[in-house]
Amino acid sequence: MAIGGVRRAAAPALGLLRSAPLRVFVARPVRRLGALALDLLLPRVCLACSAPAERELGLCLECRRLLEPPPPGLAGGDRLEGCDAFFWLWVYRPPMDQVILGLKHHRLDYLGRHLAAAAVDALGMELGRAELIVPMPMHWRRRLVRGRNHAESIARPLAGQLGRPQRAALRRRTLGRPQVGRSRRQRLSNPTVMFHCSRPADVRDRVVLLVDDVVTTGATAARAARCLRAAGASEVIVFTPARTPE
Ligand SMILES: [Zn+2]
Repeated sequence: MAIGGVRRAAAPALGLLRSAPLRVFVARPVRRLGALALDLLLPRVCLACSAPAERELGLCLECRRLLEPPPPGLAGGDRLEGCDAFFWLWVYRPPMDQVILGLKHHRLDYLGRHLAAAAVDALGMELGRAELIVPMPMHWRRRLVRGRNHAESIARPLAGQLGRPQRAALRRRTLGRPQVGRSRRQRLSNPTVMFHCSRPADVRDRVVLLVDDVVTTGATAARAARCLRAAGASEVIVFTPARTPE
């Protein structure tokens, strides 16, 4: 059979393989298993400079030294409208941006565990006050495309390390636009992201730790915090590994 004939004969099968349910329920888990196998077999390289890297944060020692902590005045916590406390670890500048992008776009889930461990090392006392860990929700449409909520990739191991429950207690009602990489004017003009608390009984009278991967203007985190307070949270603490510079 000519090659064209083989292609035509195989077309229905290929079409089935590309169909949405197969992509979600078969192709995606297979791809994840493949990525996990590669992750175990191949030596890691630094996400920022491609030098051989240790496992911590996916960065080599040199790049890790370049991570920029909050200014000394913010060591005890930053201010964020609508939140009782706001803690972050590093400025969202190279090489930190590569760590967040690795978690977000390259499905490097181990980075979520490393970021959670770094949070417990630096802020164990402050974050340990939380009674419930809630990841910043992703709109269901974006989650379907990305396959996971990367805030949850940090929140889940953080909850495990703090010995607290984690619940996806918030739902995002509006899609919004990704904020990172936009100018301040564009970020402030982003359509309002609305939230809904789907688990008020879990939230009520609790100190809630809201976890996001990166905070830009803080407007989205402030809205999510207000929603948790309206659902009865006694306190809302926000944690993010990275904050964009003003
Ligand atoms: Zn490096």
